[in-house]
Amino acid sequence: MVDRGDFPGESLLLPWCCTLCGQAGLPGLDLCAACHADLPWSRSACPGCAAPLPEGAGAWRCGACLNRPPVWDGAFSALHYAPPIDRLIQELKFHGRLSRGRLLGDLLTQALTAARHTPWPETLIPVPLHRARLKERGFNQSRELALRLSHRLGITLGDSWVERIQPTQPQIGLSAAARRRNLRDAFAVRGKPPAHVAILDDVLTTGSTVAALSTALRAADVTRIEVWTVARSAPDHPAGPAK
Ligand SMILES: [Zn+2]
Ligand SMILES: [Zn+2]
Repeated sequence: MVDRGDFPGESLLLPWCCTLCGQAGLPGLDLCAACHADLPWSRSACPGCAAPLPEGAGAWRCGACLNRPPVWDGAFSALHYAPPIDRLIQELKFHGRLSRGRLLGDLLTQALTAARHTPWPETLIPVPLHRARLKERGFNQSRELALRLSHRLGITLGDSWVERIQPTQPQIGLSAAARRRNLRDAFAVRGKPPAHVAILDDVLTTGSTVAALSTALRAADVTRIEVWTVARSAPDHPAGPAK
């Protein structure tokens, strides 16, 4: 029997079972081999913003990043924001299916490990929710993902370094400049975070939220900032309501 007791609430008795089709899961994963292979994996992407690039593009950055480098140093997304990943993320975020967070966290862990992504950051910083939103939702989906990666990769969970001090208005339909205004001073850094961090979030879309968080971390002397997300959504494919 596989030991699934690495988190409270994970049954010691249930075998791994595919979330998508109900067949037996791969060892240690709630997905079968066929569904796992069929996921919309990101196979070639810009190391700056994780946008898809043609296969064989190597380590080249996309034109957008060359024109205007992001505030952060590098971005990595395991998958494209496409079926069935979009549904799994929505089930986590809007329906509180925390088991989806564990599965999605495992997929991101696998992709980072397969990409031989090194050196690992010293801490994982989930994008924080404002306390009013946290109270309403009852959990922070980014923290659920970070918790899983922390456990799988042995990197400390750095969820106390930053706080969201301003509730932000929904970002949908706003111009890039309005999004940045909306998020200005949204985050406060507490104490002195390590020099190399990864920000964790579910989906990277326009990047305005992680840019605001990165700006706050830069001001606190963080020298290397990576952005890790389960999925990358093109800006014209919005990932749903802002947090
Ligand atoms: Zn399956
Ligand atoms: Zn790019």
